[in-house]
Amino acid sequence: MPNILILDCRQEVATFNPWPTRYEDFDVIPGHELIDRHRNTRSSVAGAIDVFEANAGVRMVPAFGASACSGGILDAPGFKRLSGELLHAVREAPPVDGVYFSMHGSMVAEGKDDPEGWLLEQVRKILGERIPIVISLDLHGVVTERMLQQSDAAVLYHTYPHVDLVETGERAAALLLKILNGYARPVTALVNLPALVRGDELLTETGLYGKMLKDAQAFERSPGGLAAGLYIGNPFTDVPGLQSGGLFVSDRDPDLASREALKLAEFFWAVREKLHQPLLPLEDAVRAACAAQGPLLLMDAADAPSSGASGDGNSILREVLRQKVRQSFLIPIIDAPAVQAAMAAGIGQEVRVKVGGTRDPGRFQPLELDARVRLISDGRFAFEVEQGHADAGPTAVLECGSVTLVVFSRPISLHDRALFLAHGLDPAHFHATVVKCPHWHPRYFESWAKGRINVDAPGATSANLHYLGHTRCKRPIFPLDAQVKFEPRVKLFSRNGALE
Ligand SMILES: [Zn+2]
Repeated sequence: MPNILILDCRQEVATFNPWPTRYEDFDVIPGHELIDRHRNTRSSVAGAIDVFEANAGVRMVPAFGASACSGGILDAPGFKRLSGELLHAVREAPPVDGVYFSMHGSMVAEGKDDPEGWLLEQVRKILGERIPIVISLDLHGVVTERMLQQSDAAVLYHTYPHVDLVETGERAAALLLKILNGYARPVTALVNLPALVRGDELLTETGLYGKMLKDAQAFERSPGGLAAGLYIGNPFTDVPGLQSGGLFVSDRDPDLASREALKLAEFFWAVREKLHQPLLPLEDAVRAACAAQGPLLLMDAADAPSSGASGDGNSILREVLRQKVRQSFLIPIIDAPAVQAAMAAGIGQEVRVKVGGTRDPGRFQPLELDARVRLISDGRFAFEVEQGHADAGPTAVLECGSVTLVVFSRPISLHDRALFLAHGLDPAHFHATVVKCPHWHPRYFESWAKGRINVDAPGATSANLHYLGHTRCKRPIFPLDAQVKFEPRVKLFSRNGALE
């Protein structure tokens, strides 16, 4: 009867966002609540729980969970406390036979470029070399050699937008059970690619990424295949380990894993130029929006809180006011002091407020405007896209001429229309809506919008990668440098003599 330790620690960090993440930004779940909090949700831990519960002999030892909305670098005291609690829970746990650890892969803490690798190393020190550890990772994870050295296998999300978290947890848990039952001895082949990519071709359903993924999935289903995927890093996590690559885990077959990883990496390299998002300059984008038939979507993925941006970007708002547009625009923005000013003024009142630039002042200058306070709320509402509730903090709807602003206080994922609908605002009734999220399920926006314009606005998660100013990732790297050469090289990882 194997005892399986369950750990969950996830955050995606955009290092270009200067607003630090703190311990308090995490939803920390103690071990005894972990299963109830995840059961029947859309998380990887939920998928793993399903598999473990379906196996009568397994006893789960839920130890620790923590997750936060994407954001800036986790400060040193925050990571010290978070990692301290996680490792304390591991030390206090009863003896275990295996570990499932759910991670993102793109965490960064002050002074720690690879917190996940470090955590795995510490967990190993506590539990010993022989305990199998299977991790699950976001395909936007920065996969480091240390992570692969310290774990027995890594299982990646396959879909983008990410709709297979549960399935990823299921695949990871099933693989861990196979290892524990002696049916699998994983050998991982990693092929890194000096490339950073972003854009529509990475959508699983319609893009080139989906084509590459099919090969990885076919490998997983093949007799010797245990897990496979393609990771693209998070282009906004500027750390030495940042790059893309293929990760193939076979059962004791280094040649098979290597061959498949190389094949995928070479295909990826050949199509890299296509894996980029064409963007329209800000001024042209607003003009194009005014000239087009609505309702439209203005994509401001550069300021997407779900990717780790600050969410206080006001450049599209500034341009819309500068061009004195007549059509109705709906714009979300984070600005806690502006909400406080609106609350002090009261519903129905006129207020002069500064909007934007409270979290990333180096990039955005506060914009002073006169507005009418239409509505105030506590910013708590249900997401459309996933189970769970948003807590955007105090929120105000402000009207400034033809522009309606939804101003909120804390970063939340804007994957769907929930922020708007919860405040009585249907984006379909506006000429243009600014969407601060790179991609979403089509039913929330695409199905009713007449068009979509990808705006080249400033922001910590801009798809215009040249603009961001990477200084720490390994160079040369595509597309930041010219004439980057790709020399395919396989790195193999295995534990406990699987390669012998
Ligand atoms: Zn992701």
